[in-house]
Amino acid sequence: MKKLLLLFSLFFFEKLVIAQANTAPGNKYVLVIHGGAGTILKSQMTPEKEKAYTESLNAALEKGQAVLQKGGTALDAVEATVRYLEDNPLFNAGKGAVFTNEGKNELDAAIMNGQTLAAGSVAGVTTIRNPITAARAVMEKSPHVMMAGKGAEKFAAQQGLEIVDPSYFYTEERWKGLQRAKREDSLKANQPGALKQPENKDYKYGTVGAVALDQHGNLAAATSTGGMTNKKFGRIGDAPIIGAGTYANNKTVAISGTGWGEFFIRLVMAKSISDMMQYGKMTLKAASDEMVMKQLPALGGDGGLIAVDKDGNIAMPFCTEGMYRGFVKEGGERTVKIYKE
Ligand code: ASP
Repeated sequence: MKKLLLLFSLFFFEKLVIAQANTAPGNKYVLVIHGGAGTILKSQMTPEKEKAYTESLNAALEKGQAVLQKGGTALDAVEATVRYLEDNPLFNAGKGAVFTNEGKNELDAAIMNGQTLAAGSVAGVTTIRNPITAARAVMEKSPHVMMAGKGAEKFAAQQGLEIVDPSYFYTEERWKGLQRAKREDSLKANQPGALKQPENKDYKYGTVGAVALDQHGNLAAATSTGGMTNKKFGRIGDAPIIGAGTYANNKTVAISGTGWGEFFIRLVMAKSISDMMQYGKMTLKAASDEMVMKQLPALGGDGGLIAVDKDGNIAMPFCTEGMYRGFVKEGGERTVKIYKE
């Protein structure tokens, strides 16, 4: 009996030591975030606006860091970070989302667990306050990966998530953005070749995303967006498409994209970078620069992404004028940036 007790206590002691070793302060963790890429120029920014964005990005980093530094999971960290950004009206996700051509807010979001390759996403939802949490519920509480529209909303309600009236997402700034976009579109319609022109690709700033490496060595990615201003009925972007705007794999990298979604889908952006790393043995920097700085503009698209690889290396490439972005690491090293360097 005594022997058994001794064995038992040794077993639990060992478990305790391992658990502590995995979450000991000083273990590596990384959180990277974006708040959208686009024509973000210092000349068009007021000091007040710049301050508001900087403060919000810092607050978002703090949300995720609070999870990671106490040994929490990358998945919890990216969800908490994105939830904060969805609730913040400055960003094109959740409250503050851009308007569709019909004057609605239709939201897309996705989340992925790099440890298991489990993924969940929602597309074109109009009543779920935090689409990222709905995406996680799809991943964890349904047998599916992607749910859209009314069905996704019904599922979110069944899961007890917060449902709001569509008017909750309204902000005056985004409403004005839609009117501006429509005016510009009708002007463009009179120009030769107009039908081939994309719509208002520059009225879309503010998609949000987070990627993290936790102290246990696991990666996760999350992205949430209202999509592109003046998008047509039922349009779905890259954010909720696993492998396009969102991807995480413990063997390689976690990625969240922002930019002209159609091109991210056609390039299968995030998974391409992961494959270049896994099968082409490329570094994160080489693979992400190739896709974002070369392939994306070569096809006629634009945008950027954030990434953290399994070793904690960070990349934040973009081929637009700016991208709201930042990162924090163990030890508290923190950076927030808006413009091109
Ligand atoms: N990628 C998003 C979309 O196309 C928009 C953005 O990131 O600005 O829906």
